Amino acid sequence: MNDSIKQIREEALNALREVPDTGALQSLSTAFLGRKGRVTSFLRNIASLPVEERPKAGQEANRVKKELEAAFEAALEKLASDGTDMTGAIDVTLPGRKPPFGSLHPVTQITRLICGVFERIGFDIAEGPEVESDYYNFEALNIPKDHPARDMQDTFYVSDNVVLRTHTSPIQIRYMTTHTPPVRIIAPGRVYRCDSDLTHTPMFHQVEGLLVDRDISFGDLKGVLTTFIRGVFDANTDIRFRPSFFPFTEPSAELDIRCVICGGKGCNVCSHTGWLEILGCGMVHPAVFENVGYDTRANSGFAFGMGIERIAMLKFGINDLRLFFESDIRFLRQF
Ligand SMILES: [Zn+2]
Repeated sequence: MNDSIKQIREEALNALREVPDTGALQSLSTAFLGRKGRVTSFLRNIASLPVEERPKAGQEANRVKKELEAAFEAALEKLASDGTDMTGAIDVTLPGRKPPFGSLHPVTQITRLICGVFERIGFDIAEGPEVESDYYNFEALNIPKDHPARDMQDTFYVSDNVVLRTHTSPIQIRYMTTHTPPVRIIAPGRVYRCDSDLTHTPMFHQVEGLLVDRDISFGDLKGVLTTFIRGVFDANTDIRFRPSFFPFTEPSAELDIRCVICGGKGCNVCSHTGWLEILGCGMVHPAVFENVGYDTRANSGFAFGMGIERIAMLKFGINDLRLFFESDIRFLRQF
């Protein structure tokens, strides 16, 4: 009987020396150590031996079993590390792997969503430069030299008269100086402010809108912006306008929507007011029309602007502004 386990051990170790790959190693392991393998069968047959031979045979068989298990494991490690294993080699008949589809950045998705709503009601897309002259960024928009928005803390100055645009509003001026009314534009783009903390980044995105025609009233502004809000959020979203101030509009207002997180009950996102500030808007200031040479008696219009990241945060339930700019694939994959 002990000869027999010795024989099994010899055969297993000899076969192991010749084994070419992990597939063959697996079969060999099954043949010796598997449930119906030779070592296992030997152990099972010990019960049929004479009582006095059983302990010795059992000890010997268990020792061999352990030795073989270790030898198989070592062989597997060796095959995996020296690269001679052909089991996982390239099968040239397999179809190629397709690169996985990426997804659009949430800021791009929301920009397209916003522009799409306005395009459907007749607005054109307009663009402008990110490095802008003082005149287009401030002066023409009725922001006088001593206005706080011109403070060095808010604006990146390239030189005395050149800035990184602080808002998308200069596009309005550029468009009006090259087009006659009626004007209906929506202008998305990057803007820059000297500001960086939890809720501010030095670069962010805005969308600007402008509509100029004959007999445009605040009622038109409310109608267009209500259509927009209900196109982007829910069709039943509650809206309110609050009086506000911007140098380039008069009267000016801010538009709030009923908090999309708590439904108006009050939560951290809406500072327990039940309302969320979405955008600034107003009737175009006559001084702006004069700067671009529009007849203020014949034309009237409204303008509005909003931060795209803010809309994206509310729409997707994102709570940290910095996530948009970290390029973390685990974050971006979710959209
Ligand atoms: Zn809330």
